[in-house]
Amino acid sequence: MAAVRKFGSRALLNRTLQSYALPAAYSRCSSVWANVAMGPPDAILGVTEAFKKDSNPKKINLGVGAYRGDDGKPFILECVKKAERQMLEENLDHEYAPITGFPAFGQASARLAFGEDSQLVKDGLNATTQGVSGTGSLRIGAAFLARHYQASKEIYFPAPTWGNHGPIFKDSGLTTKSYRYYDPATCGFDFKGAMEDISKIPEGSIILLHACAHNPTGVDPKPEQWKEMSKVIKDRRLYPYFDMAYQGFASGDINQDAFALRQFIKDGHKPCLAQSFAKNMGLYGERAGAFTIVCADKDEQARVLSQIKILIRPLYSNPPIHGAHIVSKVLNTPDLRSLWLTEVKAMADRIITMRDRLQDGLKREGSSRNWQHITEQIGMFCFTGLKPDQVERLTKEFSVYLTKDGRISVAGLSSSNVDYLAKAMHEVTK
Ligand code: PMP
Repeated sequence: MAAVRKFGSRALLNRTLQSYALPAAYSRCSSVWANVAMGPPDAILGVTEAFKKDSNPKKINLGVGAYRGDDGKPFILECVKKAERQMLEENLDHEYAPITGFPAFGQASARLAFGEDSQLVKDGLNATTQGVSGTGSLRIGAAFLARHYQASKEIYFPAPTWGNHGPIFKDSGLTTKSYRYYDPATCGFDFKGAMEDISKIPEGSIILLHACAHNPTGVDPKPEQWKEMSKVIKDRRLYPYFDMAYQGFASGDINQDAFALRQFIKDGHKPCLAQSFAKNMGLYGERAGAFTIVCADKDEQARVLSQIKILIRPLYSNPPIHGAHIVSKVLNTPDLRSLWLTEVKAMADRIITMRDRLQDGLKREGSSRNWQHITEQIGMFCFTGLKPDQVERLTKEFSVYLTKDGRISVAGLSSSNVDYLAKAMHEVTK
């Protein structure tokens, strides 16, 4: 070729052309984002997308983790409606909240978690900030630990855990590992495995604990088991990080659901805690949550809080106010609070009833399998034990949508679809 001849060799020609070339991204196409790979869809939100496209009138969406009333519709709590009416009358402004949110919200959240009579809250040892719901609160905690926790940069999760825990903590710079938790043989808690693994976690590591209503399994340790876990965690000098996204939603009783956290406090741990009001107040999109670090003294509390502010300021300056106003009104107004307690119990009870009805339905269909775990597990989710091929059949043949791991959101069941699900589950597990 003439060009090769002119430059003496093909290699020389190529080198010359390269020296004039634009960066790779420009040369392939005109966008600077040409190298950005397509990411996978979100595992849970993908289920809803597929559900929406299905025209079967009997279809059921059991993927999404949001409470529904027995009519299958999103549920607005009466106490929340009342709080919002009062807020409207009070003509609240839209000024910025402080960096760590409104103190009345933070303190009420801390008392809810640690107990109304909590000495540590009375003594002001809780460094509490509002967070952007549970996820944002977990993330602030993760970022704080990555920056300030000296003993370790490793966090141990129960296996399995909520799908977002990995990304939250990894994106914050921590290394994630796991300890045994769920036993597929019993669809229950692998207490022995958990204790064995926890007792081998390197000293100083961080351990993540679901305070109640473990997601995705619905399997919680019994109070006596929590006590033993607390002891081994203390002996190993592990740092407990509680994720409490379902207080009140599991048993219907806010105090019972806070048992583990309060036991750890009694045992002398100084844990941190992420809270969410998405489920227990039905405030999903309002993004109301809180993050707390339990400190040794007032001086430490002030220093820790100052560093939490330094983390938050460049992230989002200050948190959204509407949801926090609602929560603080509900928790701090006696009649709204007692209404909330009855409503959160009603939500938990409806879920417990649906578990009973699903189990009864499977028996009635003639299933010879052991479905005990459906009622032994607790909270919004049930880990059915269905295998991926059975999940696929449920979706393809019965238009029942759930995540591949066999998790169903019991909140998606109602008196009008629970028998249909029982029949479908029996068909694919015969
Ligand atoms: N932790 C766990 C275990 C959860 O299941 C959830 C909700 N799916 C969250 C935290 C946080 O949810 P949100 O950010 O909506 O409050």
